[in-house]
Amino acid sequence: MASHDFRTPRLFLPSDLAAGAEPGLERNQTNYLQNVLRLGAGDAVLVFNGRDGEWRARLAGEKRRLRLVVEGRTRPQTSAGNLNYAFAPLKHARLDYMVQKSVEMGAAVLAPVLTQHTQVARVNLERMRANVIEAAEQCGVLAVPRVDEPMPFDRWLAALGDDQVVVFCDEEAEVADPFAALALAPDGPTVLLVGPEGGFAEAERRALLERPSVQLSLGPRILRADTAAVAALALVQAVRGDWH
Ligand code: SAH
Repeated sequence: MASHDFRTPRLFLPSDLAAGAEPGLERNQTNYLQNVLRLGAGDAVLVFNGRDGEWRARLAGEKRRLRLVVEGRTRPQTSAGNLNYAFAPLKHARLDYMVQKSVEMGAAVLAPVLTQHTQVARVNLERMRANVIEAAEQCGVLAVPRVDEPMPFDRWLAALGDDQVVVFCDEEAEVADPFAALALAPDGPTVLLVGPEGGFAEAERRALLERPSVQLSLGPRILRADTAAVAALALVQAVRGDWH
């Protein structure tokens, strides 16, 4: 595994990064560096933009006009992989948690899906994106996952490619052993789907089983959706993903 520097603060910046570049800082970033982390001229920061890898940069300039000067690259850009994580959106803190954990676990796409029993009607995409960036900054993830617009279940399902395999977590799965279920799955890019607190509707279950899919059990207990997310991401990454 690549060695990461977890002592130096890591910052996501949208600008292009190269040696000698001086990417602009947002006011809240300057505030964070100066007043929260108490950094000043001469201190190092790691920066990434999701495209150019990770770079070491150094703060320069006076208090009000703090600048960042990019020095050298510390890690090359990594690919996002192709794990698509779809989920019925949850409320506030549980959604924040689920978004952060799915970034840590290596999801490349985060897709909110409005199923029949989903209780959340409006999804705050800005907040989701902010959580994605925060998790990437904290965990050294250089490929920042894409956040999709929420889609009703039927439209979301219809938009999937024929080669995509939907691994959907269902407490009513026929096969109790998740490894056995995953071993029988067809090849193809994985779309992991976790349902809402109310579970999947029968029609949704049928529609999922009519396409390349795996009905995945996560054991004999009912898990909260955010717990199911982490458990399922671990299983999928271990069997079909980038853990081996
Ligand atoms: N329908 C259930 C609870 C759903 S739990 C009820 O109300 O009793 C929320 C989501 O987490 C489910 O849609 C499913 O995707 C996932 N999940 C929770 N426990 C699970 C388990 N034991 N096996 C598979 N998926 C599970």
